[in-house]
Amino acid sequence: MDLGSWIDLIMCFILFLLFIYIFVSVTITRLHKVYLGFHFSMMLWPYCQFAIKTVDDPVYQLFYVKLAFVDASMLVAGWIFFTILISGQTQFLKRKILILLFLPAVFSSLGVILNPYGWFVTPVNGGYVERIYGPIFWINIIILIIHALVSLYIIYVALVSDQASRIKNQIMYMLRGIIAVTVFLLLDILLNVVLDDYLPVIPGFTSLGIVISAVFFVITIHQDKVFDIVTIAHQDIIDTMEYGILVLDDQERVMEMNQALHPYSRLKAGERFNMEAFLPDKTDAIAQFLRQYRERPDEIAEIECLHPDGQLYINIHAAPILVSSIRVGRTITFQDITELRRLIDETNHQNAILQEKNESLIKVQEELSRTNRKLTKMAITDSLTACYNRHYLTQQLEREVTEKRGLHAQAAVILIDIDFFKAVNDRYGHLAGDLVICSTVEVLQRALREHDILARYGGEEFIIYLPDTGEAEALAIAKQLKAAVASNKVSIDNVAHPVWVTISMGVLSINEFSPRQTGDASAYLNDLLKTVDKALYAAKHQGRNRIVSVRR
Ligand code: GH3
Ligand code: MG
Ligand code: MG
Repeated sequence: MDLGSWIDLIMCFILFLLFIYIFVSVTITRLHKVYLGFHFSMMLWPYCQFAIKTVDDPVYQLFYVKLAFVDASMLVAGWIFFTILISGQTQFLKRKILILLFLPAVFSSLGVILNPYGWFVTPVNGGYVERIYGPIFWINIIILIIHALVSLYIIYVALVSDQASRIKNQIMYMLRGIIAVTVFLLLDILLNVVLDDYLPVIPGFTSLGIVISAVFFVITIHQDKVFDIVTIAHQDIIDTMEYGILVLDDQERVMEMNQALHPYSRLKAGERFNMEAFLPDKTDAIAQFLRQYRERPDEIAEIECLHPDGQLYINIHAAPILVSSIRVGRTITFQDITELRRLIDETNHQNAILQEKNESLIKVQEELSRTNRKLTKMAITDSLTACYNRHYLTQQLEREVTEKRGLHAQAAVILIDIDFFKAVNDRYGHLAGDLVICSTVEVLQRALREHDILARYGGEEFIIYLPDTGEAEALAIAKQLKAAVASNKVSIDNVAHPVWVTISMGVLSINEFSPRQTGDASAYLNDLLKTVDKALYAAKHQGRNRIVSVRR
């Protein structure tokens, strides 16, 4: 053989490798790939038969004979693989099983290629157009038959399992294909090999079997859309999605879209999508979105806006389709968020109402607490003079007695009564009397310290509690009070001269809040008040405008 022929063969081989590479690497299904390989093998057998007869050189003839049989071995192994895939019996797709599947084919191919001692084939008349097959050929045939039986077994398993009727239909076609090729192969062997000496050679038997089985495959593939299932499923998924989907190429031309896109756009495949024109209303947000869409196409851009028809509120999401970091197009999804938006608006509205209600509640609460404070103040205040009332002072004293019981704490209580007050009322009238009472309270209050408590005891009587005050200090304060009241001139309408009054006072100094009275604070307090009352009575009795002091 000359070198030129080998170069052609090598080129052909390289082309074949490239063919294998491209369909192994592109994104088609495993089933597609297996079928293409399988189909290629099917084509090779008749071609080799043709070539054996047309080339003169016995070396080439032998090459084609070997190629035909290697191809046949691979064909049946591939056939089982294809049967497994098409019948959905993927439990057979385990590494060990696949190795077992191809191992006999590899061994018989080795036998064919090496043809040791002519055990596979020997020439007749110096060529291989007519040939005598040896034991390796028969081993090959047995392996082929075993493969056919394995295929039949897988088909049997698939038929008895609960597969969908579509798959069972496919399997039945495969079964016919296998029977056709096996019958024609056996006929070929019987007529052209076994009965070789008695009959003329009838060519093309096995090839015909292969073609018939290929026809069955083609029917299966077409009728049941075996290869289209994934594509159909993809389209189904895309079409049943509630998002509108638009797939654009890098020129912004529509590659694909789904049915849910209709409310948003009526574009057809091949037309150009123009985002600027799609969003004519240039609000700030839209302008920013468009700028990002235009200037940074490799990033995701997203916007929520009113659809140009003014009916729907939509979310537009544009994402690049990247292949090895290079942008080849974009996917744009459109989502109707009108309902979502309505819910958000509704929630915001409800929130605003709640907020308003809350504010008015807070106002009511403030009003209530103001009233409460007023009421509390009223409850402890004397209405005429605005100083504390008797109730409040009694309460405070009771607390003091309870807190300081048994302690050597000093304190004083002063009881005051205005002298001859009846006479004031009688002479100037009751209102003038009220005025004198108020004025006296003001004078007393002014003369007292911050923490002293002055209360109206009743009528024109007042009581003062001086906390932490010793006897001498209490007496000094009492004297100050007496002097202040005596010098307080009250001017009264329609009375020519100012009116002034004196006061009598009982002063009780406490050195110890008695431990003997711990059981009942109010009884103890009553006792104290009785004591100071007695002192006041004594002051009145001794002539008024004076102080009588007692000690506890
Ligand atoms: P004494 O020196 O003994 O205290 O003589 P008095 O006149 O002040 O006698 P007493 O304290 O018993 O009388 C109190 C009088 O004060 C009786 C009542 O008419 C008058 N009075 C009591 N409360 C009020 C008041 O709120 N307003 C006026 N204007 N008079 C009152
Ligand atoms: Mg009185
Ligand atoms: Mg009086």
